[in-house]
Amino acid sequence: MQRALLDQGAGHKGTRGSHEKWLCPCGKHQAIVPNHTIVSPGVIRDIIKKLDCLPEGWLQ
Ligand SMILES: [Zn+2]
Repeated sequence: MQRALLDQGAGHKGTRGSHEKWLCPCGKHQAIVPNHTIVSPGVIRDIIKKLDCLPEGWLQ
């Protein structure tokens, strides 16, 4: 997931415990991304919704 975020031009803004804060390329959206290997579909949906400006299907 972090790889896909970087590919979209998102920036890593910091880590707190097991969560990372990411900022989208436009600067208006941010999401908290767990840095676990396994991320639940609900969390993935939430991240996609929060980073609204990224193209559909950016995270598979
Ligand atoms: Zn944005």
